[in-house]
Amino acid sequence: MKLELKNSLSVKLLRVVLLSALIVGVALSAAQIVFDAYKTRQAVAGDAQRILDMFRDPSTQAVYSLDREMGMQVIEGLFQDDAVRMASIGHPNETMLAEKSRALQQSPSRWLTDLILGQERTFTTSLVGKGPYSEYYGDLSITLDTATYGKGFLVSSVIIFISGVLRALAMGLVLYLVYHWLLTKPLSRIIEHLTSINPDRPSEHKIPSLKGHERNELGLWINTANQLLESIERNTHLRHEAESSLLRMAQYDFLTGLPNRQKLQEQLDKILIDAGRRQRRVAVLCVGLDDFKSVNEQFTYQAGDKLLLALADRLRAHSGRLGALARLGGDQFALVQADIDQPYEAAELAQSILDDLEAEFALEHEQIRLRATIGITLFPEDGDSTEKLLQKAEQTMTLAKSRSRNRYQFYIASVDSEMRRRRELEKDLREALSREQFHLVYQPQISYRDHRVVGVEALIRWQHPEHGLVPPDLFIPLAEQNGTIIPIGEWVLDQACRQLREWHDLGFTDLRMAVNLSTVQLHHTELPRVVNNLMQIYRLPPRSLELEVTETGLMEDISTAAQHLLSLRRSGALIAIDDFGTGYSSLSYLKSLPLDKIKIDKSFVQDLLDDDDDATIVRAIIQLGKSLGMQVIAEGVETAEQEAYIISEGCHEGQGYHYSKPLPARELAAFLKQSERNNAAIL
Ligand code: C2E
Ligand code: CA
Ligand code: CA
Repeated sequence: MKLELKNSLSVKLLRVVLLSALIVGVALSAAQIVFDAYKTRQAVAGDAQRILDMFRDPSTQAVYSLDREMGMQVIEGLFQDDAVRMASIGHPNETMLAEKSRALQQSPSRWLTDLILGQERTFTTSLVGKGPYSEYYGDLSITLDTATYGKGFLVSSVIIFISGVLRALAMGLVLYLVYHWLLTKPLSRIIEHLTSINPDRPSEHKIPSLKGHERNELGLWINTANQLLESIERNTHLRHEAESSLLRMAQYDFLTGLPNRQKLQEQLDKILIDAGRRQRRVAVLCVGLDDFKSVNEQFTYQAGDKLLLALADRLRAHSGRLGALARLGGDQFALVQADIDQPYEAAELAQSILDDLEAEFALEHEQIRLRATIGITLFPEDGDSTEKLLQKAEQTMTLAKSRSRNRYQFYIASVDSEMRRRRELEKDLREALSREQFHLVYQPQISYRDHRVVGVEALIRWQHPEHGLVPPDLFIPLAEQNGTIIPIGEWVLDQACRQLREWHDLGFTDLRMAVNLSTVQLHHTELPRVVNNLMQIYRLPPRSLELEVTETGLMEDISTAAQHLLSLRRSGALIAIDDFGTGYSSLSYLKSLPLDKIKIDKSFVQDLLDDDDDATIVRAIIQLGKSLGMQVIAEGVETAEQEAYIISEGCHEGQGYHYSKPLPARELAAFLKQSERNNAAIL
């Protein structure tokens, strides 16, 4: 803000000081002039007295001797004085002995001085004889013209007035200079500093203390203002910090410090606008970890967090090629590749991320290898908006995961219809049980001791009225999500137990029935009672029902899982751990759980002839099971070579297409009879 000169304190001060000095000067001068007027009047009287005194004796002489000539001489003597206008000597009752007068002096200032001093003044003294009688002879009277005195009075009045005013003005000026020097100048300097203060960093430039004013009010003012500025700065700093941390919280992920979904959307919006203008492609990659849930289950949540942090760092290493990187939540991340030419560039990035994750992460003294699935959408082909691209990339990732993992998948239009199909399926699933669309098939399990069928695994099938057979891998996860797995699971248990009773009655009295349990079922408190009831209703001997649980289901909460398994076992069921080797189960946990059987996952069995690692894993699992006193069964045995290997390693049982596909009940009975006959023939 610029100060206008007419508003400045100095000018105002100058005006006030001068005006008041002028008033005081004029008043004082006027007083002095009045006093001077009085003194001048006195002077007139004094002069008159002196003149009368001087001429009294010769006048008395002249009157006494009635000497006119002498009288005139005296009068002439009196007229030597310019102020005398009229003079007379004589007795008042007789003609004057001598008298003379002259005209009033002409002077331009008369009118004024006459007002103050009067035009003329007459003084008289009595002429008295000497001696004892003091006889009265007459009067000597003079009239003084005041003009001469008036002139002097005027001159001195003017001098008094002018000097008075000048003196006052000089005082005012000095006062003004003192004020200016002591107050307005330091004030203007302070103002100058104040205007140069940066409101964002108020205490950056302190107001400097003014020399000579350190201890007075100005110094105090500056100190206080500086303290105020400092505390303002401290407060704004705190406020800024709070604001920016709020902003960070709203826009960034707390754990990894990466932008969150909201921030990503903002960034992607900009990237898309830019790409649209320049007619370039953009790829959105949605990365989801394949087994993060089981990491969290097996280790602590803190360990899971650490892993996510390490993962975020690995993703950050690619940021040179990225337009944006964000955590969408949980174990899902999004990467945006701006400004690409061909889709293969996105594929390359996806592959390099997958490769990157191959390197092991160190976690609580263990090495962990992560795998991820990546869904990719392209702008402008797959969508023209942030929402569509992100949503489709996530869907693609989710779908790709449900098929096979550790890979990337580009969005294809069928993803949309598939997502829709899944939603419809989920709806249909709620009706499927009451509409009797489920049935069970049974797959034989062979004992390698005598190559007889010792058990069957019950596998559910859903005959959908429109879509035909829906694979359990597709609908079981849906059923787990919407809770229908509980009634469906109970139906499976009931159906399997009834079937087993039937086969026992047919003479296959040693046959065992394996039933898959979902994690959701395992945590259902009713389960042991249901199992117990069924075994009683169908009069099943102990150890004839085997329940297959997966590692992940157990690891979530080891102690409750152990309790549930124990109560299941008490009802007479055997417990098998399914898909063994695919999760992260730690061996120490295995020992603390009441397990009867380990089921080697079919993925290891299938590749064991081509992949040394898988062969080693299979051998290790068999050894482990044996050392813990558990039965070991291999699933997915498809060839005689696979069978030969697992038998040579000491595996107890096998299951797979090599023996039979899962069969409907009637066919399985035939299969059982046939294999009995074969065995009898061999014997
Ligand atoms: P699972 O328990 O691992 O079942 C074994 C799966 O491998 C079955 O697939 C079976 O048909 C298949 N299989 C058997 N032998 C071979 C072989 O030699 N080679 C190959 N490649 N595959 C073989 P299915 O019946 O499609 O079941 C898939 C999964 O669905 C099951 O995996 C199980 O986790 C789940 N499931 C099936 N029935 C039920 C059920 O009644 N309740 C629950 N909770 N889950 C079920
Ligand atoms: Ca199974
Ligand atoms: Ca399995």
